[in-house]
Amino acid sequence: MPYQLIDGKNLSTQILNEIAENVGELKKRSEITPGLSVVLVGDDPASDIYVRSKERAALKVGMVVKLIRMPWQSSEDKIIEIVQSLNNDINYHGILVQLPLPDHVDQNRVITSINPLKDVDGLHPFNAGLLAAGEPRFIPATPGGIREILLRTNNDPSGKHVVVIGRSNIVGRPVSNLLSLKGKGGDATVTICHSRTKDLTDICRAADVIIAAIGIPNFVKGDMVSEGVVAIDVGINRVNAPKKKRGYMLVGDIDFESVSRKAAAITPVPGGVGPMTIAMLLSNTLYAADISRHG
Ligand code: NAD
Repeated sequence: MPYQLIDGKNLSTQILNEIAENVGELKKRSEITPGLSVVLVGDDPASDIYVRSKERAALKVGMVVKLIRMPWQSSEDKIIEIVQSLNNDINYHGILVQLPLPDHVDQNRVITSINPLKDVDGLHPFNAGLLAAGEPRFIPATPGGIREILLRTNNDPSGKHVVVIGRSNIVGRPVSNLLSLKGKGGDATVTICHSRTKDLTDICRAADVIIAAIGIPNFVKGDMVSEGVVAIDVGINRVNAPKKKRGYMLVGDIDFESVSRKAAAITPVPGGVGPMTIAMLLSNTLYAADISRHG
């Protein structure tokens, strides 16, 4: 069966163009230039690449960006002090603390120190609570990107059985909440699976849509899915590839080769969910700038 290859890069370009237009309108209407501040602790190469992609995309849509780099040894209190100074800086409407933070830092304490009205990653317990209560404000970027993918590729989740593998606060749990909400982009019947799930294969075979956010390369195989499944791969895993110039390549949590033979639609890695995540972060930043006008 021919499958629909979901081009996340192209979709994200569409969304970034829409955001750029709205940024222009906001500037004209209220003289506000949306500002995104990013805190990067340490020099993890992957985090560095993510942060620079976010910065580039934000500048491209007409936002201002402040990137604060802090040494890996920074204390939790010092990071929180920086976050609090950004909370009070009216030029920056969104604050993003790039995760993961070093082991000596309590990630939850840092996230909770962000003003919930500037929490464009949607990870503050206040915003997670609003999403769980069915009144989302800032939807975490990756789940938001997944919903956009489904809507913009005619794979509306309404009435579908969506199986989410993974229950992290960044992806699995919020995407489960989001797609089960009442209304556009929701109305799915969601099963959330994790490392203790029994009979995972049977559950996956009953899925209309599978969302894999596990962090294990090529975990979901073709024999775990049914014909016609829509497969959304969140995973970004580095695997050794001696023949590649860099010595590694990126693969997802879904075994593209075997699953694409049965899927109606599938996202590639890279070029699927990843680019959408950045677009949705900027969509949240635009929203944060907009609501800042109301005090
Ligand atoms: P995590 O490590 O926080 O969570 C992994 C989840 O997988 C856990 O909930 C665990 O219960 C589940 N799991 C582990 N082993 C399992 C098994 N054998 N069977 C069933 N479930 C199992 O991961 P995360 O932060 O949600 O990230 C998951 C993947 O997505 C990673 O590869 C990460 O790099 C990637 N990611 C990509 C984006 C993006 O923009 N594309 C954003 C965030 C994360």
